[in-house]
Amino acid sequence: MNELKLTGLTKYFGDFAAVRDVDLTVKPDEVLCLLGPSGCGKTTTLRMIAGLESATQGAVYFGDRDVTHLPARDRDVAMAFQFYALYPDLTVGQNLAYPLQAEAPTPAESADRLARIAEILQLTEVLDRYPHQLSEGEKQRVAVGRCVIRAPNAFLFDEPLSRLDAKLRDEMRGSIRKILATLDRPTVIVTHDQLEAMTMGDRIAVMRDGKVEQIGRPLDVFERPANIFVAGFIGTPQMNLLKGRCLAVNDTGLEVDLSGQMIRLPSGPFATLPQTGAEVTLGFRPRAAARAQDDAVSLQAARVFLSENMGAETLVHSDWNGQNLRVLAHGPGHPEGQVHDVQVDPADLTLFGADGIRITRKSDKEAA
Ligand code: ATP
Repeated sequence: MNELKLTGLTKYFGDFAAVRDVDLTVKPDEVLCLLGPSGCGKTTTLRMIAGLESATQGAVYFGDRDVTHLPARDRDVAMAFQFYALYPDLTVGQNLAYPLQAEAPTPAESADRLARIAEILQLTEVLDRYPHQLSEGEKQRVAVGRCVIRAPNAFLFDEPLSRLDAKLRDEMRGSIRKILATLDRPTVIVTHDQLEAMTMGDRIAVMRDGKVEQIGRPLDVFERPANIFVAGFIGTPQMNLLKGRCLAVNDTGLEVDLSGQMIRLPSGPFATLPQTGAEVTLGFRPRAAARAQDDAVSLQAARVFLSENMGAETLVHSDWNGQNLRVLAHGPGHPEGQVHDVQVDPADLTLFGADGIRITRKSDKEAA
């Protein structure tokens, strides 16, 4: 089967660049999630792949075939939108089988595919019902099933779980993941929900303002965000991002002035080093503070202004010299108004240069 490739894909609406110079490849057996905040260009990118929106510049390829100027009906992609529409007068089974008409498989093959999809999506019991007799979750599963019953050039999903409540989303993520693994076609899912992207995508493309900021496997993007935007966007609770200035750099260490407090970091792990005097940002995950050891960096005298009970953990928000700190603590954490020190292992710190780009570590290559 063929890969899906986008080269320099760009879309202008008038003067406004909704999608800018997107290059990416989705392998035949791969699920790529387009993730980003509202308005960053995810749906427009998907629509250009489907042929529902024309590209201003750049190209869309299915394998070696340039389909950029082909109308949607000739691209043979299957697309499930967030606003699913089922045929009200057809049963679930007929709705699911409807797209097969174009392919005209043998009746036995049709029945086989229908049974398999219905089983994976747990719709076997409701095959004879009509859409108005279904719950929202069942309707959404029928919409997904109708999309994946065929064998097109690519599968495209736009926020496939957006209309479900939290519990159903949890369940559906698993079932969709299972079905996607069997598809063997390039698959693109648009979502603004990072948990969906982390759990359903083989890789994630994080977008902002029409551009792809980083493409990588979910854990790589989480552990090695390319820049401050990705670091702040991926991960709940959000990564702490503290602004500072590099006061001294030598072979053994970096001295960073963070809001008037001097922090010393070993320089050995970093592949490159910031210049003396350069602005830097230090990032660390709120969970990192709970596991710090003796040689940790200590951020002293943070004042708690909000404690959020999250069940087994508490998310403690503090003011530290005018910068916000978020720390996940076991149990009840610190009460509001209390002053506390926050410890972080140097290995858990992510360093960003003045340009907002992450300063790579020597260990990155081994991890990749
Ligand atoms: P969301 O998650 O909110 O759906 P998105 O990342 O999918 O957002 P797009 O729908 O791709 O974003 O839109 C990207 C930008 O392009 C937005 O600012 C949107 O307002 C703009 N846009 C989309 N379609 C058009 C159009 N037909 N005419 C003008 N501007 C448009």
